[in-house]
Amino acid sequence: GLGVGIVGLPNVGKSTTFNALTKAQNAEAQNYPFCTIEPNKAIVPVPDRRLEALAKIVNPDKIQYSTIDFVDIAGLVRGASKGEGLGNQFLSNIREVEVILHMVRCFEDGNITHVEGDVNPLRDIEIIETELIYADITQCEKKIDKLKKQSKGSKDAAAQLEVALKLMEHLGELQPVKTFEDLDNEHFKALDKELRFLSNKDVIYGANVDEDSLADGGNKYVDELKQHAQEVGADVIMLCAKIEEELVGLEEDEAKEFLTDLGVEESGLEQIIRTAFDKLGLQSYFTAGKIEVRAWTIRKNTKAPQAAAVIHNDFEKGFIKAEVISYEDFVNYGGEAKCKEAGKLRLEGKDYIVQDGDVMHFRFNV
Ligand code: GDP
Repeated sequence: GLGVGIVGLPNVGKSTTFNALTKAQNAEAQNYPFCTIEPNKAIVPVPDRRLEALAKIVNPDKIQYSTIDFVDIAGLVRGASKGEGLGNQFLSNIREVEVILHMVRCFEDGNITHVEGDVNPLRDIEIIETELIYADITQCEKKIDKLKKQSKGSKDAAAQLEVALKLMEHLGELQPVKTFEDLDNEHFKALDKELRFLSNKDVIYGANVDEDSLADGGNKYVDELKQHAQEVGADVIMLCAKIEEELVGLEEDEAKEFLTDLGVEESGLEQIIRTAFDKLGLQSYFTAGKIEVRAWTIRKNTKAPQAAAVIHNDFEKGFIKAEVISYEDFVNYGGEAKCKEAGKLRLEGKDYIVQDGDVMHFRFNV
């Protein structure tokens, strides 16, 4: 469940965005031979300039980035929770992901039909988010029926039932799970863990604009979307999906020039990937050797032995110590040997919480 699901009404630019992500996957595919390619899933490298800075010092054969999964969840339309379109099947696909990338149409184009007749980001968002709430209502109702039976013999079930009924009232007002007042209640947490409420997931809005609006830094639709996102505490990332698709096909310096001409610092797709990585609660530590300079993905607040297990289970089992150099020291002093001389290499034990950007070397018993 570590992925990002792309949702949105038809014709808003989901496929175009997903194609760009797939191209980004394929550009790196030789580095990820263990990944099977699935039609609706893209395993996308997380851009991280720090890896390039490390590589300048170490001169490795290759660089390997952290990755995250994006899943294309097409077909969400008005009435989906009642079985319209592809119906419930893909609502369950959304259940599996941890973060939602909600693509919103913020471009006008008379040639491309809008299923609701005109461009209106806030209405579009409401349609999708209401479907997610309906789906949660269905789940919650089923659970309540079960809990009613169980609660006669179980105090725990009775307590959970009480919370579920309260949540049901909240959902009945078409409010998302996210704004439920008892999010910290342990019984709610158990419900959420089991049912994976759709309206409780972190959302990133992808504001899909045309080329002109991108160069102008936005348009009135993006403004509306940003205002809304601020109210609900979500992120908005503006992109032109069509341009993103072209960008991933270019060499790095060509892509840079293209963006500079548009007056844009970082591509929207890169911003989406980095934001998603952070929302997933992930961070990277690095290993820097001659064979490869590589980012390893861990959850925030992971301790050294569990971080080591991402490389190999034996590293955790036989863990002795971790040699750690901060990214800044590694770059400022110019590599491991110089860091050692300067006393910048630390030996850390099994309770050490790995920091984002740590350059690590594990000592372990075989
Ligand atoms: P989906 O149904 O949400 O997957 O939407 P698509 O990605 O298939 O896009 C629908 C249509 O909109 C296609 O013809 C795209 O070429 C077009 N489109 C996507 N992004 C943009 C954009 O940024 N600007 C314009 N003008 N058209 C776009």
